Amino acid sequence: MTAETANETLGFQTEAKQLLQLMIHSLYSNKEIFLRELVSNASDAVDKLRFEALSNAELFEDDPDLRVRVEIDTDKKTITIDDNGIGMSREEAIANLGTIARSGTSEFLKSLSGDQKKDSQLIGQFGVGFYSAFIVADQVDVYTRRAGVAASEGVHWQSKGEADFTVSTIDKDARGTRIVLTLKDDAHEFADAFRVRSVIKKYSDHIAIPVEMAKQGDDAEGFEAINEASALWTRSRKDISDEEYTEFYKHISHDFEDPVRWSHNHVEGKLEYTSLLYLPKRAPFDMYQRDMNRGLKLYVQRTFIMDDAEQFLPLYLRFIKGVIDSNDLSLNVSREILQQDPAVDTMRAAMTKRSLDMISKLSKDEEAYQQFWDQFGAVLKEGVAEDFTNKDKIAKLLRFATTHGDSATENQSLSSYVERMKDDQNAIYYICADNYNTAKNSPHLEVFKRKGIEVLLLTNRIDEWFVGHLTEFDGKPLKDVTRGELDLGDTEADKKAAEEASETHKDLLERIKSVVSDSVEDVRATTRLVESPACLVTGEFDMGLQMRKLMEAAGQAVPESKPTLEINVEHALVTRLDKESDEDRFGELVHVLLDQARLAAGESLDDPATFVARLNKLLIELSN
Ligand code: ADP
Repeated sequence: MTAETANETLGFQTEAKQLLQLMIHSLYSNKEIFLRELVSNASDAVDKLRFEALSNAELFEDDPDLRVRVEIDTDKKTITIDDNGIGMSREEAIANLGTIARSGTSEFLKSLSGDQKKDSQLIGQFGVGFYSAFIVADQVDVYTRRAGVAASEGVHWQSKGEADFTVSTIDKDARGTRIVLTLKDDAHEFADAFRVRSVIKKYSDHIAIPVEMAKQGDDAEGFEAINEASALWTRSRKDISDEEYTEFYKHISHDFEDPVRWSHNHVEGKLEYTSLLYLPKRAPFDMYQRDMNRGLKLYVQRTFIMDDAEQFLPLYLRFIKGVIDSNDLSLNVSREILQQDPAVDTMRAAMTKRSLDMISKLSKDEEAYQQFWDQFGAVLKEGVAEDFTNKDKIAKLLRFATTHGDSATENQSLSSYVERMKDDQNAIYYICADNYNTAKNSPHLEVFKRKGIEVLLLTNRIDEWFVGHLTEFDGKPLKDVTRGELDLGDTEADKKAAEEASETHKDLLERIKSVVSDSVEDVRATTRLVESPACLVTGEFDMGLQMRKLMEAAGQAVPESKPTLEINVEHALVTRLDKESDEDRFGELVHVLLDQARLAAGESLDDPATFVARLNKLLIELSN
């Protein structure tokens, strides 16, 4: 490394700066993980070199023995991680080490509380990475050169982990990246070979390339590998400890927390491949970003091909992490080819099944499953609409809040609902609303309460959409309690009474209809209500309220449809209404009834001020 040229100082991107600070402060008590992260990045860089060299062997230059080296200088208190991988150009160093390109990052950072303990958990959602170097170093020097370019195109990147970094062009003979950390006073333990050896051993046994350190002993010379250097997934399950599985997960995911479950399988037959899938503990912060990195790390015959091969898992399993190593794909496979290859479809079906089996096994442990559901339930629901083949399997994994029990927690399965069904009950009932209280206290549930029939309370934005795709479970249809005619296994006598009620109050119902015919399709006597005077019912095939709101919010055209107004003819207010001879007052009262029904359904009123004025007028009359 000689004369430095073209020196420039650049500021970190705001998000990068914030993340850097967060990393330093929240992972302070877990300092050693910087080694895992840097060795992991170095091994990725070596994987990438090997991949690019498949089509351009010159990239190996004259240094074909791929490895990562960790060197220590006890006097200077530095630790160096050196790889002969792909390296970075000047532009890449600036972009990769100075900015964070994941969308949603600034929202993620805003969601942090400032409480270090809580935030250090959340950092797991983001993934730890290169910046973890600053947990232990007060200066980081990165010397790097991209494979295949002249020695004079090397780059020196330097930062003290504050607001800015400098980059300059240098001569660098060896390709790859050399990262020198000048250790902080309280991190001198990492300038101790014995200590570092044990950490590296722990973090890198599963890494497929040698991680080397200087040989030990007084006149020992040169380097020796201190890890096993065999790809973890190629080993037999019985030879791999839980700890190794966990470390490997952290290596591929950059997650800070342990995985919840994993599934490791080798398949032989028409196709030959090995897969290792993991279920993370926590949802990544960008699970709902379109460009979230998802999919598996793809290897072909042990050679790394690409990250985030999303063709191997459906979208609704985008939180699953892992690797797949195929013997059937070609080494020069591209994303485009993956999309058309029938072998990939077969593997994808198998990966889907394995993932669902893994989740299903987890569901036997109620507490663990609740945690899983809270994190990933909403995404799993998408599968009901997305994956017709596995719909029944997914349905068994769903959890709901219901009127059985008194909490908003989604913890009841459809199977347990079916077990509690009444003898004469022939459907699984649900209601969709904005939130738990609106759902639970909806007038629509009154008759269900009276008859002791359980109702699923659906309050997630996508619930109405997904449940529309789940037409039945265990042979029982799912039915929206706010839609169409209700048949709760009524006795003949019940039915007759309802018909009579409609008949007796025919005139009243007609009179009401003449007032609100612009807003409603029909007015009829209800079988749903016990305590409330009126409610709105959606047509069997019309779009429900939640879906309507969702589409309106997305700026889409919503088809015209009017609800039916159902009246509780037994209610005191309705009896009073029947006696009202003043047509104006009758009209006012009917409008109040209609608006009340809208409010109870969680709708917003077109003209709330008029509703309030009408109500006040009635209250004054009452008090006079
Ligand atoms: P992540 O690895 O999650 O992308 P990092 O912050 O760890 O995030 O690293 C950012 C990027 O910097 C990497 O994606 C990679 O492109 C580049 N990088 C880091 N370390 C190295 C290395 N040793 N050799 C080449 N590139 C590297």
